[in-house]
Amino acid sequence: MKIFNGDIVYSAENHELSLGGTRVTYAEHIKTHPKSIAMVESDNEKFLTLLDESGLTGHGGAHFPVARKLRAAMQSPPGGKVVANAAEGEPGSVKDAALWQYVPHTVLDGMLLVAHLIKAERLVIWVHDEERATLRSIADAIAERESAGNPIKLDILRMPVRYTSGENSAVIAGVRGEAIAPRYGLDKARPWGVGNPAILSHNSETLARIAMVHNFGREAARQHLLSILAQDRRIVREVSSSETYQQAMPEVKGNPAILFGGYGASWLSWETVKHLRADPLMLRAAGLSFGAGIVGALPVDACVIEETGRVLTWMASQSARQCGPCFQGLADVSDRWNLLVRGGMNQEGYSILLERIGLIPGRGGCAHPDGVIRLVRSAITLFGDEVDAHLNGSCTLLESIPFLPIPGVSVMS
Ligand code: SF4
Repeated sequence: MKIFNGDIVYSAENHELSLGGTRVTYAEHIKTHPKSIAMVESDNEKFLTLLDESGLTGHGGAHFPVARKLRAAMQSPPGGKVVANAAEGEPGSVKDAALWQYVPHTVLDGMLLVAHLIKAERLVIWVHDEERATLRSIADAIAERESAGNPIKLDILRMPVRYTSGENSAVIAGVRGEAIAPRYGLDKARPWGVGNPAILSHNSETLARIAMVHNFGREAARQHLLSILAQDRRIVREVSSSETYQQAMPEVKGNPAILFGGYGASWLSWETVKHLRADPLMLRAAGLSFGAGIVGALPVDACVIEETGRVLTWMASQSARQCGPCFQGLADVSDRWNLLVRGGMNQEGYSILLERIGLIPGRGGCAHPDGVIRLVRSAITLFGDEVDAHLNGSCTLLESIPFLPIPGVSVMS
């Protein structure tokens, strides 16, 4: 059972999403989701067992088992908060926006179910300030429920766009009224502080999947949203974990490299990707990460070294500046990498770059720098010929049209 009945296409030009249909109102939603209004009577243990059997994991990137996180939160005293994380830090991802703009009531049902399970007293939506269409749709959803006699009380917390502001521990900190920055070494199953009422944050897609499993059974957990960047379009597409990427993305043909997972993940070749199944757990077993579900098909006339440099520079600027290896180390690696991009690096400089890259992983308070370095290393491993071309000053693809979206910079036109 799918959430959407087709692709959602994002226009980078006017920042709008369009679906081959319209936004689902509350009246339409309760017709197609019959358990929506009965959820407060749900049998907790039966539902948790169903979630366990479905194998549902979080869709924010970490893919932690949902039922396990809920059971842990249920040990906390009542009176906590359920947070829907709608702050997509990944510039290539528009799946949260698609959910909130087209099927807000499915996500809200997920929040209500979780609140019921953990006896939370407040619902919070954590969203970037500039997501105007999302905020409009949420306001409409609240009004629709109110006029249907099912009012819902929500706190909406808005914050500036930043890569790390959607990181789970940063969200929890922000909801507590503290500085919005990742915190060190939090247990993913108990991120709210032992003994206190839970502040339980879930990715928006995770909440929608919880509601879908509740309504339609365990098979509803076998679907995932991809954010596909291909040709000149961004598409949100719902795919089944039994599909290969080749089946799921027929528009990708002969692209030299695939950004797989997001800006903190990896470059892979299409030859590798096309045979993989869109199944986060199978990918993890193969040493790969589904991440935020981003699949970016690099055009044939784009330079992977230059694209990596653009992402690296932006990711370095997104450090929360708490740990030296992150904010100083990434800035240093970014400067050196961009020298390589421009053909201004010799072998000795390249050796120093590799040494500096090796100093960063595992030394930040959160996974931000590790992800960036993973991406850089995958470019080096997979595209050694491209690195050599840059060391020889002979890359012919430089100054091609930028492909990967960077906030504030126009691309893919
Ligand atoms: S590694 Fe970077 S983003 Fe993470 S906590 Fe440290 S400074 Fe912040």
